[in-house]
Amino acid sequence: MYVLEINDIKKGFKDGEVLKGVSLNVGEGEVLSVIGPSGSGKSTLLRCATMLEDIDEGEIKYAGETFASVQHGQKNYINSKQLKKANSIFGLVFQNYNLFPHMNVLENIMDAPVRVQKKKKNEAREEALSLLEKMGLSGRENSYPYMLSGGQCQRVAIARALALKPKLLFFDEPTSALDPELTMEVLKVIKSLAKLDIAMVIVTHEMEFARNVSNRIIFMDEGVIVEEGSPEQVFNSRNTRMKNFLGRYI
Ligand code: ADP
Ligand code: MG
Repeated sequence: MYVLEINDIKKGFKDGEVLKGVSLNVGEGEVLSVIGPSGSGKSTLLRCATMLEDIDEGEIKYAGETFASVQHGQKNYINSKQLKKANSIFGLVFQNYNLFPHMNVLENIMDAPVRVQKKKKNEAREEALSLLEKMGLSGRENSYPYMLSGGQCQRVAIARALALKPKLLFFDEPTSALDPELTMEVLKVIKSLAKLDIAMVIVTHEMEFARNVSNRIIFMDEGVIVEEGSPEQVFNSRNTRMKNFLGRYI
């Protein structure tokens, strides 16, 4: 069974249609990278997939369960109780970390497991400490976000997402706000997650990284999927739009 199924979704804003019928599936533990020019609709796709944005048409399913369906104007969305459960199905890591500035590292990670999942504080704390170790951040549990580098903040954000034990993690350009050396440490952490059987959908401009870490790559342009396949297939594509895009990076 697929962790995520997106069927022919469309989404427009007042300036026009941004997603013009996008379909994709993500299998258990699969790593899918989404590449494409700025403005092609990658963030909108992630925001629709994670219910931060309503879709105009199409269908979104997690583990076979319909979360959103809009067919011929007939809308069917999951209710807020189901959406709460969704917290443990998927997580989202943004470009700008979005850590709570008034909470220390440990509190940032423990917040949702304790408040949303009603986990015991001791248990949440143990898990948070173990995640920090995996992220290479042991000893930073009492630091506040302003005391950390961007790369460290992003690794805390990843630990915070992992604390809810999602089956799928979405990343929206997780390193685009970081200097090159901080980028490397975050990419290394994301790569290590690929071995943990967590499915990932990663929007990135890091082409070498995408080539290394992905089972499959999707190239989006102007609201449609232009190319999809293994890293080899996509990077050797003869498609003109794809070649022009890659030409900017290689
Ligand atoms: P990408 O992430 O690939 O750079 P986006 O999904 O952010 O692309 O944006 C695709 C297009 O949708 C852009 O033209 C952008 O201006 C437009 N867009 C995105 N979000 C909104 C919004 N909330 N309101 C209006 N237009 C939007
Ligand atoms: Mg974007």
